[in-house]
Amino acid sequence: MYPNTDLLIDGAWSKAAGGKTIPVLNPATEEVIGQVAHAEKADLDRALAAADKGFKQWRKVSPFDRYKIMRKAADILRSRVDVIGPIMTAEQGKPLIEAKGETLAGADIIDWFAEEARRAYGRVVPARAEGVYQLVVKEPVGPVAAFTPWNFPINQVVRKTSAALAAGCSIIVKGPEETPASCAALLQAFVDAGVPAGVINLVYGVPSEISEYLIPHPIIKKVTFTGSTPVGKHLAMLAGQHMKRVTMELGGHAPAIVFEDADVESAIKLLSANKFRNAGQVCVSPTRFLVHEKHYARFVDGFTEAAKAVKVGDGLDPETRMGPLANDRRLQAMDAFVGDAVAKGAKVRTGGKRQGNKGYFYEPTVLTDVPMSARIMNEEPFGPLAPIASFRDFDAVVEEANRLPWGLAAYAYTKSAKTAAAIGAAFESGMVSINHHGLALPEVPFGGVKDSGYGSEGGSEAIEAYLNTKFITQLGV
Ligand code: NAD
Repeated sequence: MYPNTDLLIDGAWSKAAGGKTIPVLNPATEEVIGQVAHAEKADLDRALAAADKGFKQWRKVSPFDRYKIMRKAADILRSRVDVIGPIMTAEQGKPLIEAKGETLAGADIIDWFAEEARRAYGRVVPARAEGVYQLVVKEPVGPVAAFTPWNFPINQVVRKTSAALAAGCSIIVKGPEETPASCAALLQAFVDAGVPAGVINLVYGVPSEISEYLIPHPIIKKVTFTGSTPVGKHLAMLAGQHMKRVTMELGGHAPAIVFEDADVESAIKLLSANKFRNAGQVCVSPTRFLVHEKHYARFVDGFTEAAKAVKVGDGLDPETRMGPLANDRRLQAMDAFVGDAVAKGAKVRTGGKRQGNKGYFYEPTVLTDVPMSARIMNEEPFGPLAPIASFRDFDAVVEEANRLPWGLAAYAYTKSAKTAAAIGAAFESGMVSINHHGLALPEVPFGGVKDSGYGSEGGSEAIEAYLNTKFITQLGV
């Protein structure tokens, strides 16, 4: 049932030039379930030539016709949710309900950007002299190189691909080698909807070899990456050396503050649900829980109960609420974070170790009494670990919330409009969600500040990253 994945170049699926493949594992069983083609330079050269040709053709397709093709792709993707969902669960591990939800949300993102294609307005600036017309015109930036990770195999690709296509750009996606087939199924929907050959290309291989070849290449005009901050900084440097436009969606370490006047039961319910979604492998996952001392004991008890109640297992089992971690590296990282915190005095309230010895399952984990020097308070955990600390006053909690170099998402719970306004202003963060979890919809901005990167992948800002602004001043004759 699980398909092998080839390279999509110039409208056709093909094996890699050298015939090499990379095995794909099911993280719930550790079994090899398929293979993904491993691109070499010859494949990348073909993809570059295709993207160049595709761009020249696609930029001339009117925004209205791009919109129609993209809306069709969205409908095709929706109609395939029952096929794509189990593929994503098999390769990535998340529960089937989350895999299907991600697929359907992907269709909504395509719809949003299809509409945005028709709204990539320029403007007319009033002139100082009679007879002069000053026009601000938006043009597609050119062929895009996109690098996407394994935690949301469709969501991360669909945001970049849809924005690029809406703007009139072509794209080469370097997809996630660990989760290639659902990403390929997404791009197949675009192909089936009638996107011309060469406009969308998909390659896999050694990430660093591909980025180091594509980013400096003169055909590529724009680079977009989602992944860890160290890799993002490296790719941004490479792009800077070659003066390429860049969007960077990097890591985070989201503070979640529960104030003295919060509805603490609601905070426990919403924050625990969001902590363990996708086994915590989410860039906007709440990762540092800062609870007013008045609620600390109840919050720790309630959150620990909620963590214990999470049913961990194979994502294909309908009872499962949290699947395995996506790969062996995350399992080792969790053990290292917990070991380090415990060695420095932290208490494990629940979890703290691998579950079973087959599959990359890790127990939902709650830690208290974690010193600020522990690695987990300073590095992105990217897994199902919840360190909870208490605080007394507003200024101290703001200082802690903003202490780290990241600024992606931040959460707060309070019944006071005054506190809500104050914390909304005080967070150094690209996204703030107060009293609920309301991030990542297609129509709202999505992106970070500080070491979390720059650029937005949602809302009306997102298409701008794929457009150049041209100014034309013209004296009528
Ligand atoms: P990693 O840093 O090795 O890789 C992260 C992603 O970047 C992967 O998709 C990988 O293929 C890609 N990558 C790595 N080196 C690259 C290069 N030189 N050129 C192009 N792409 C490159 O880490 P990992 O073990 O795969 O994931 C763990 C860390 O990555 C997490 O701690 C988290 O911070 C981060 N991550 C973030 C997101 C996100 O949504 N922001 C998603 C996945 C991983």
